[in-house]
Amino acid sequence: MAVVLRAMSDHHDHHRRAGRSDIELRVRAMEQLLVEKGLVDPMALDAIVDQYETKVGPRNGARVVARAWTDTAYKRRLLDDATAAIRELCYGGSQGEQMVVVENTPAVHNVVVCTLCSCYPWPVLGLPPVWYKSAPYRSRVVMDPRGVLAEMGLRVPDTTELRVWDSNAELRYMVLPRRPAGTEGLHEDALAALVTRDGMIGVAAV
Ligand code: FE
Repeated sequence: MAVVLRAMSDHHDHHRRAGRSDIELRVRAMEQLLVEKGLVDPMALDAIVDQYETKVGPRNGARVVARAWTDTAYKRRLLDDATAAIRELCYGGSQGEQMVVVENTPAVHNVVVCTLCSCYPWPVLGLPPVWYKSAPYRSRVVMDPRGVLAEMGLRVPDTTELRVWDSNAELRYMVLPRRPAGTEGLHEDALAALVTRDGMIGVAAV
């Protein structure tokens, strides 16, 4: 098993992290204030966050994956320079300035984490899910990726090498899942509809 991790100190700016948690506190304080004043409904806020976590955001990544599945030249460009290839589909910008896409094959399964905080490629995947930001996932997926994936419902065969990629403020990873069997006749749009957020993080098969 190869665990691919970059030195945390090289890639994470602790001052920036302090700034981020300060922003999180402010956001929480504002949300509480708005709820107390009766200006927003917390259920509606949750629904909006869920929409961005699971629907709007990951649809962009799904289009990238479906294009790669149907266009070998595009796939080559994607694996070679993901930032540029993703920009071809007009996705990019904040929290996705430097992208790397790693391909799942029968021999290699990739999974993405941010060991220090919650770095995540927003332009292609939207907002990170709560479990992605949780301390148990961040620490355990590095030490025991096979075990963590099994708990999440994905059994990776012992014959498949597992690679863990640590996203950070500068560089963010996305997984190119394996195209499901029996989808040979499907067009790009239909394929994109099959691609899930979790598949592009590497914690589920598509
Ligand atoms: Fe991070």
